[in-house]
Amino acid sequence: MEFCLKAQSDFPEIRPGWLMAGLLGRGILQSRTPWLQEHEAEAQGLQLGYALFDFTDRGWRDQDLESVLAAAQRAGFAGFNVTFPFKQAIVPLLDGLSDGAAAIGAVNTVAFVDGRRIGHNTDVTGFAAGFRIGFGTAAPGRVLQLGCGGAGSATAHALLGNLGAEQLVLHDPDPARIEALRSQLANLYGASRVAIADAPISAAQAVDGLLNASPVGMAKYPGLPIDAAAIQPRHWVADIVYFPLETAFLAAARQTGCRTLDGSGMAVHQAVDAFEIFTGRKADHERMRASFFVFGEDK
Ligand code: NAD
Repeated sequence: MEFCLKAQSDFPEIRPGWLMAGLLGRGILQSRTPWLQEHEAEAQGLQLGYALFDFTDRGWRDQDLESVLAAAQRAGFAGFNVTFPFKQAIVPLLDGLSDGAAAIGAVNTVAFVDGRRIGHNTDVTGFAAGFRIGFGTAAPGRVLQLGCGGAGSATAHALLGNLGAEQLVLHDPDPARIEALRSQLANLYGASRVAIADAPISAAQAVDGLLNASPVGMAKYPGLPIDAAAIQPRHWVADIVYFPLETAFLAAARQTGCRTLDGSGMAVHQAVDAFEIFTGRKADHERMRASFFVFGEDK
């Protein structure tokens, strides 16, 4: 009760004619999402406010998630983006899930529709859209994915489900993470379409594309997720790290002559898809992409 009163007072009053959305998570105060969403809305003549609800900054506990969600719904929000550490925790608090969110068991966007809370996963659709725009409509073939965490789960579903990859070969130093993702994917897409690589360098020799879905390459985790010698000119090479956009992995791939895709596509297109969910309008992805780069690489 005490919490709910506090949460209510923490929610901005919505002005008539405005749509409100926001982001729930921890460590999100540097997020560029408010700028992306508000700028696109303004360009379309829509009045959209986008607020950050950083549980750490506000002193909220993880178990307050349900109360925060209820307070936002009462306040008349159109919906929310959801990030670490709530993408799975929010699922039991929702009334329905899109097919993609149900398959992956994780939600990054919630829409309040006629009093119901509907969860979506625009990380999956966003990665798929960014991939198609970056690499065209050719199927990804066999893919070695490095990293089986939260983001890797979204890219794996996008590759096998949305993009029609022939087979996904998973590598991660954490065997429990590999097995959790492998069994989920095998149930959905068939066991023959998922494999595990204990030795990623030799696995790279038998695939068409390499995807880094691990944090390796970020300023905090410098280096490459696989030895550069494993990269061959025939590989397409993608990275989802976007701080920095030019990771050492992508730089090595470009030097080798590979076609490459950086992490901005997934970041922009998850926001494009979330905009449509919040507003019911298509976003201009080129304009949102331009907005994304206004910030530069600021993390
Ligand atoms: P996470 O911590 O849930 O998972 C990361 C996984 O990578 C872990 O399982 C870890 O064991 C594994 N890993 C570490 N080193 C590895 C290596 N050398 N080879 C293979 N696997 C390795 O993190 P996450 O939420 O999955 O995010 C991963 C990264 O994805 C983030 O650091 C972020 O840069 C990026 N990301 C990008 C977008 C985007 O929109 N472009 C969205 C989300 C996350």
